[in-house]
Amino acid sequence: MAEEKKIEEIIILGTGPAGLSAALYAARADLKPLVLTGAEIGGQAALTDRIENYPGFPEGVGGNELAELFQKNAERFGARLEYDAATEVDLSQRPFLVKTYGKEYFAKTLILTTGASSNKLNIPGENEFRGRGVSYCATCDGWFFKEKKVAVVGGGDSALEEAIFLTRYVASVTIIHRRDTLRAGAILQKRANDNPKIHFIWDTVITSIEGKEGVEKIRLKNVKDKKESEMGFDGVFIFIGHTPNTELFKGQIELDDKGYIFVDNRLRTKIPGVFAAGEVCDPLYRQVVTSAGMGAAAAIEATRFLENE
Ligand code: NAP
Repeated sequence: MAEEKKIEEIIILGTGPAGLSAALYAARADLKPLVLTGAEIGGQAALTDRIENYPGFPEGVGGNELAELFQKNAERFGARLEYDAATEVDLSQRPFLVKTYGKEYFAKTLILTTGASSNKLNIPGENEFRGRGVSYCATCDGWFFKEKKVAVVGGGDSALEEAIFLTRYVASVTIIHRRDTLRAGAILQKRANDNPKIHFIWDTVITSIEGKEGVEKIRLKNVKDKKESEMGFDGVFIFIGHTPNTELFKGQIELDDKGYIFVDNRLRTKIPGVFAAGEVCDPLYRQVVTSAGMGAAAAIEATRFLENE
């Protein structure tokens, strides 16, 4: 006789702040959520050296430590973490099917919290100095560069907005853009141009990031005359766009033109029983506290959805 398939009340995909907060709330609603961790626990937050803007930690907290605390908190109430990653989902019928490399899971509800990844330059030194001078978040790390000299890579709204934010702390910001025209909107361009701490290097790409304990210098190449040079910096902030991790859901769920999951103001996707939270559906705020809040809200919605059935 075929084995009867187990149907979970709720499966959460992802263990960033949104996923682990959803797990905590679903666990406290006694739904015994199953959480598929994905490749790394803690999402982008766990990669941040120190988080000083998550309320409740006036001295700051290590990103990895915060992720561990989130996990402990969810597990204490019965969340079950499976160290496995979804490779395929079928949202066309209920129970929803989630496949991993070796297993199949079924669930009445799903919360998608697969996050987003900062686009990388993919140059030597970028990974090596991540958290030691290379950053993808000025709000998180700007404070560590008080009176230092930093480079910002990119020419879009994020690069300019974050460069302007950095000028609160740093001695100078040099924006390095691969073209001679910014993509950013006019207002941000004007603010950046008017800021005496901000300088621009045009038509230039970074070819490597170098140093010993931390970032010390970068190598540059002018894309027009091909001239190479090097400059000393204490930090390199990279803002060349984000990619939401929604490859798994393409064709099954509504995504916006940038690939973010479309949700309503109750974090519902168009598929009843499928919710999303955190950066996978949020190109705007992208903070640990906002993602955690969305995760909690999505779990409350999923709980209500199950109660109403
Ligand atoms: P974006 O608009 O896609 O800009 C990315 C920038 O990075 C572009 O200038 C691009 O150069 C550059 N870039 C991309 N790949 C690169 C590479 N490999 N090497 C060097 N440079 C590279 O991304 P974003 O700035 O993160 O903005 C995303 C969305 O959020 C946009 O719609 C933006 O308007 C919005 N946003 C709005 C605000 C605001 O309104 N305050 C703030 C932040 C973001 P090219 O220009 O040559 O392509």
